Amino acid sequence: MNATNSLKHYAREKLAGLEAAGQQRSLIATDRLAHGRARRGGVDLISFCDNDYLSLSHDPRLVEAAVKAAYAHGTGAGASRLVTGNLSLNAALESRLAKMKGLESARVFGSGYLANIGTIPTLVGRGDTVIMDELSHACMHAGARLSGAAIKTFGHNDSEHAAQLMEEAQGQVLLLTETVFSMDGDLAPLDELAEICNAHDAWLMTDDAHGFGVCTMDNPAPIQMGTLSKAAGGYGGYVCGPTELTDLLISRARSFVYTTGLPAPVLAAAIAALDVMKAEPERAECALANVTLFAGLMGLPAPRSVIVPFIIGAESEAMRVSADLQAAGFLVTAIRPPTVPAGTARLRFTFSAGHKPEDVRAVSHALKECMAIV
Ligand SMILES: *Cc1c(COP(=O)(O)O)cnc(C)c1O
Repeated sequence: MNATNSLKHYAREKLAGLEAAGQQRSLIATDRLAHGRARRGGVDLISFCDNDYLSLSHDPRLVEAAVKAAYAHGTGAGASRLVTGNLSLNAALESRLAKMKGLESARVFGSGYLANIGTIPTLVGRGDTVIMDELSHACMHAGARLSGAAIKTFGHNDSEHAAQLMEEAQGQVLLLTETVFSMDGDLAPLDELAEICNAHDAWLMTDDAHGFGVCTMDNPAPIQMGTLSKAAGGYGGYVCGPTELTDLLISRARSFVYTTGLPAPVLAAAIAALDVMKAEPERAECALANVTLFAGLMGLPAPRSVIVPFIIGAESEAMRVSADLQAAGFLVTAIRPPTVPAGTARLRFTFSAGHKPEDVRAVSHALKECMAIV
């Protein structure tokens, strides 16, 4: 008897369950191109669903920095940062990130996911409490669960609810929220949340994955994480905060200690991205102008970020509109439950600096046709 059979049986049963629930996911090979384009099945599409908000992933300055770093330092870091993988580019990137955030210090991680699952358990544990916005990203939920702390979720952006939870919380409290919410594109009430935290000596930690470099807001949080995989056009994650915290992460964050450091090309591209963000603020302005144009054309409320949800409601209808848009040359993903609440299946549009106003006009025209609202 070969154990492979029981393994296959197990996976087949699981897949059948997912398929029956309409929750089986699949991969589609996609090649990304410059200027907000992507190629699927040999067809070039204008993409309104990636997070490369400043269109930096194809910027020749980043590409050249990555290529040069690969020749100079190799394609891999070779070991964890605590062994020999702490390439000197890490310190350069970390000091740049801290400065940009206006915080004392920064620590770079392999990804944003790794930053959250390493940092949260470093800060709280059994007997403590994590209070988090219900729409917080899966990796904050994962970090909270790993920590062993009690987890309380508050209604989306409901700071009164957060304050109530604070009254009943045990031990040290860590309050988690996103700055710009990934599915809705709205902003967290950071000042209110900071006030609640300060009154209880609780720590506010924000996830700026969708704000970094494109939609910068005043942020009073002492702990600010984010990713280098979205507007920075590359890969990696970071945590900024007091030096004592970033020092502690070196010894205690398991997703920092027990994983290989980022490769030199990735680090060099990230540093080049920060240079471009600083030198060319017009890129963020362009992305914001594109989203504002789209919202105006579609009669939607003024957007607060470069993410716009277009709520359709029924899952099958969201899938149909997404397919029709693709046939018309536009890539826009349908987001379905359980990622979003039941009955709010939607298209999630994101806009970037690489889109031209004519691209935005074209997609809104196509959307109106698909929805039969012309
Ligand atoms: C994408 C994302 C992450 C994870 O970042 P990666 O660098 O892709 O691992 C974390 N939080 C939020 C809100 C995100 O959208």
